Amino acid sequence: MKEVLYKFFKYLFFIYFMKCFYCEKDAIVRIPYSKLWLCKDHYIEYIQRRVLETIKRYKLIKKGQKILVGVSGGKDSTSLYHMLLNIKDKIDFELIGLHINLGIYDFSKKSLEVIKNFSKEYNTEFIILDSKEIIGAYLPETLIKLGAKILPNYKVKYIRPACSICGSLKRYILNIIANELNVDYIALGHHMDDLLPYIIKNFFLQDLHSISKLGPKTEKIDSLVGRIRPLYEISEEEIKLYAKLSGIPYLEDQCPFKYGSKRIETKIREFLDKMEKENPGFKISLARAIARNIKFYEKEEEIKLNKCKYCGMPTSKDICEFCRITKRAFGEPKGLYVKEKISEILKGIK
Ligand code: SF4
Ligand code: ZN
Ligand code: ZN
Repeated sequence: MKEVLYKFFKYLFFIYFMKCFYCEKDAIVRIPYSKLWLCKDHYIEYIQRRVLETIKRYKLIKKGQKILVGVSGGKDSTSLYHMLLNIKDKIDFELIGLHINLGIYDFSKKSLEVIKNFSKEYNTEFIILDSKEIIGAYLPETLIKLGAKILPNYKVKYIRPACSICGSLKRYILNIIANELNVDYIALGHHMDDLLPYIIKNFFLQDLHSISKLGPKTEKIDSLVGRIRPLYEISEEEIKLYAKLSGIPYLEDQCPFKYGSKRIETKIREFLDKMEKENPGFKISLARAIARNIKFYEKEEEIKLNKCKYCGMPTSKDICEFCRITKRAFGEPKGLYVKEKISEILKGIK
């Protein structure tokens, strides 16, 4: 107890008396691994600089490239979009923000509000698409058509988690849009605390090939557009603080279909956080070491990709995941229909 009180007062003392490393303002945050005390403005600048360094270190974006960001309205993707918006002129790339309305009750309504507010505040345009217009149904209806039961507390009873269905649908739609818009990469809001536990879990399970897809950059395969992760070296705490201090609109509510925790990942994350506390900078060193060695995890012979017999998109089976899900839900595979629909909608926006 004595020790806790000592630490608390010591922290208060520093917060009260410490000045920012870069200016005369009072510091409001300390970055343990770089031993820096920073004011609000310099913290925002510091995080943006680290993202810029990540982009340069892993050669994520080159001058003149077109980058698509799917912005859900949550803190990670909204912060990522805000960071890229602020650093895009330093590299000179084109940034496209996209929001897909999944129709998940009030959660989606609030998310859309956030996107509209962001758009107004920063004078930036988003492409806003509606999943009902694209597929013919919002996510809850799609889940019900698949045979899922949605309980009053939004728990989804189905053979697969709601997120797994949602993820497959979103990935397909995002990829079609990326191809239509001819973008070079899709930027994802995955941060270090999302990625490291997942990578380590895959290592425990010796699913080494999956690790190769979780690094800072995954190149294009066939018509599957490449992915980049500019937040690869940024922690969740840092993003939370960035979102708060920069004052960007974002939604704190969690999607009602997201429940339960992934136990193994949570345990690994707790361990990594403990290591970080005892050895500041541990997580970044680990993330860099993994990125350096990621090529060793790639399979020598890439899994042979077929073309989906309905929509022609690359798949390891004979029917792609999207066509399989939509065939089961609506009685017909919707891949081709969705491709045409998106092309038609985007032509109207351009
Ligand atoms: Fe979809 Fe799951 Fe994200 Fe909700 S939490 S939007 S269901 S992936
Ligand atoms: Zn300062
Ligand atoms: Zn298909």
